[in-house]
Amino acid sequence: MPNEHDDKSKCPTCGKRFRMDETDAPPFCCQRCRLIDLGRWLDEEIGLPFEDDESPKTIDPDLTR
Ligand SMILES: [Zn+2]
Repeated sequence: MPNEHDDKSKCPTCGKRFRMDETDAPPFCCQRCRLIDLGRWLDEEIGLPFEDDESPKTIDPDLTR
């Protein structure tokens, strides 16, 4: 393994490399990225019911015969 790991982490939101001991919102590089990621999760939770409505895959194949 190359010695590039040191103590830098990659922010899951913006992909920026940062030092874990310099952030105030680990594992993100800043509070803003943490909130953005949190907002994504909330959006996905709200979006799920819509996806179910648009794709009715629960139809039983036997009923189409
Ligand atoms: Zn970030």
